[in-house]
Amino acid sequence: ELNLRRQVDDCQPYIAGETEAAVLKKYNLKSVVKLGSNENPYGPYTNARAAMKESLKYVNRYPEDDYVNLIAAIATQNGLTSKNVALGGGAGNVIETTSRLFLDEGDEVLIAKPTYRLYREVSLLMGAKVKAVPVKADFTYDFAAFKAAITPKTKMIWLCNPNNPTGAINAPQEIERFIDEVGDKVWVVVDEAYADFIQAGQRAHLTEKLDQKKLVIIRTFSKYYGLAGARVGYILARSKVISAYDTITEPFCVNRVGLFAARASLLLDQEEAGEIKQKLLKEKKQLSDKLIQLGFEVTSSQSNFIFAKLPNNLSSSETCAELMSHGVIIRECDAWGYPHHVRITVGKETENARLITELKKLLRVKV
Ligand code: PMP
Repeated sequence: ELNLRRQVDDCQPYIAGETEAAVLKKYNLKSVVKLGSNENPYGPYTNARAAMKESLKYVNRYPEDDYVNLIAAIATQNGLTSKNVALGGGAGNVIETTSRLFLDEGDEVLIAKPTYRLYREVSLLMGAKVKAVPVKADFTYDFAAFKAAITPKTKMIWLCNPNNPTGAINAPQEIERFIDEVGDKVWVVVDEAYADFIQAGQRAHLTEKLDQKKLVIIRTFSKYYGLAGARVGYILARSKVISAYDTITEPFCVNRVGLFAARASLLLDQEEAGEIKQKLLKEKKQLSDKLIQLGFEVTSSQSNFIFAKLPNNLSSSETCAELMSHGVIIRECDAWGYPHHVRITVGKETENARLITELKKLLRVKV
């Protein structure tokens, strides 16, 4: 008898994408292309790299000042004050802390179907009841259905914009209207892990609403700034929420290396990050076009990944396993309820080309 918290039984393990090292070894390959975890192949950027090196001089000390400095930089970038910002060890850690902050046993929580898996697990762990609201046929959120699913017990709605695994967004006005309509009754948590990849003019700007509505925004340095291994994420909220968050979170869960990297990214690497965004968006378009030529149905994506239906009803898990044995890792979508879809992270041109080459070989065999 382990005597674990009762709700642990309700949770399912988070299965991260395969690592390059594991695939290299398993299939005895010379090289592997990893397009399975929505990472940014170009990061970290120039000043972040230098800052990480510099940070090593100070890792014997707790990173108090660097917390303050990064929080101030984030606040300034968003037109907020430092009282509106708290940090976490990646958005994943922020999501977990947010659920601990708000959720009680018996609360109801709404998530989309499909969406990022972690919302469900962290909510269940707190003893909340999770209701999944299906997305529309074009994979955008069905806000009318969300509204209809709200009961007096609903405490929180987790939204991911753009959504993972689809890359879909709703129009900014639609999201803003939804928050205006429900944000007096329930907390809306908007996970903007991929929002920096949204095309100019299509992004909802929600920070002005933090004081008026029950709204929380979560972001990460893992994707746009290419710092997935440095583990830095943050929450934006009204000051009372932030002080409660600070009370329950571990004091120094972001390390000094990550803090240095994140601050340098924000303050000094914007130009480089912007150029890489354009490059990735161009590569996304080229990759989408090639997938369409191969018979895939590609969902319109506002992120750094592509959600696509395989041709001829091929199986997602079998196709991904076969690609992996040839050194290309992409994400199968069975667990999200899409047994014929795959999620492909946009990589470097050469990496995307290798995926297409392997797909062509595979399809010639099967189609
Ligand atoms: N939110 C979403 C929607 C994600 O896809 C991810 C990572 N895949 C995260 C949060 C967590 O990111 P991190 O912990 O690296 O910041």
